[in-house]
Amino acid sequence: AIEPYKPGLSDETLRRELGNRRIIKLNSNENALGPSPLAIEAIRKELPRLHLYPDGASDLVRAAIARHHGISPDQVLVGNGSDDIIKLISETFLEPGDEIVVPHPSFSQYGFGAQVMDARVRLVPLKPDFTYDVDAMAEAVTPRTKIVYLCTPNNPTGTVMKRREFEALIAALPDDVFVVVDMAYDNYALDEERLQLRPDDLQRGNVGFLFTFSKLYGLAGLRVGYLIANADVIQFIHRVREPFNVNRVAQIGAIAALEDVEHVRRSQALASQARFQYGRMAERGIRVVPSEANFCLVEVGDGAAVFEALRRRAILVRTGFRGLESYVRITFGTPEENDMCIAALLEVMGQTP
Ligand code: PMP
Repeated sequence: AIEPYKPGLSDETLRRELGNRRIIKLNSNENALGPSPLAIEAIRKELPRLHLYPDGASDLVRAAIARHHGISPDQVLVGNGSDDIIKLISETFLEPGDEIVVPHPSFSQYGFGAQVMDARVRLVPLKPDFTYDVDAMAEAVTPRTKIVYLCTPNNPTGTVMKRREFEALIAALPDDVFVVVDMAYDNYALDEERLQLRPDDLQRGNVGFLFTFSKLYGLAGLRVGYLIANADVIQFIHRVREPFNVNRVAQIGAIAALEDVEHVRRSQALASQARFQYGRMAERGIRVVPSEANFCLVEVGDGAAVFEALRRRAILVRTGFRGLESYVRITFGTPEENDMCIAALLEVMGQTP
């Protein structure tokens, strides 16, 4: 049976539960700075045109994304969040009995998308330090494998795949396996050796790179994600999508956010500061997995108990990842929120802050 996706508690649910208390919401890897101010302004100006259908081809968004990455617009497909695109990829490539290969732990939507198509999910564990086991991923591929998912920086571990690991994996895979690299958090990453999109990657017909406006750009509520791949592949996936899958304000907001370099810079700086703040927990003997994303895994002993104890303090984190029962995943907040969360964590874990 397919279990529906269980997102982190929503803002609305929390408000009902906690009343007027200040909620520190660090459970969905959202941007603590909020939306790009330029996006808010652009959306406000667009509201009088809401009686008109959006551009079904998302032409202006695709052009802006193409400029941003130095590629061509026909190599871009825009969706109602990257979740939408994961589903589109599943619908395009999978038939009952097919298989996908997915790292574990990683983002759960890859598996859901496959299950909906009656395809089988092969989970390949990451190594104990949460880096990719490239050999094991390649070995998990069978003649029925249609898609291999990679997530870098990986959710929920924050670890990255290196460019050389990617090249080794691609070389070991049959050409008819489509490799989806989910880069939802790549624009937070600093590791120079990590896999990053290069325009000439798109000469390969079997690789796609997935991005979102939900994280760095602070637009999770707007729902815009995009896939970059070879134009022929993009054309193939277009056939499956809804005619107006990205709404009018989402298109306008995404373009403005992409141009808001100041908001991007501030958001990246916030993550760097948070890495420093959480890094200091190591001095207390607490393991924090080094992260290239806007969140980190902290080893806390009993993850569920720590989650509950923090929740009583109106601090929301994430737990319940299979195989990661001794960890909580904490989204980076403002410096003040991080300090409050770290102090609460130390207290809950029996250390004096
Ligand atoms: N990929 C990864 C790795 C994610 O963590 C998320 C958000 N949790 C998504 C994709 C989906 O993002 P969205 O649908 O908001 O674009």
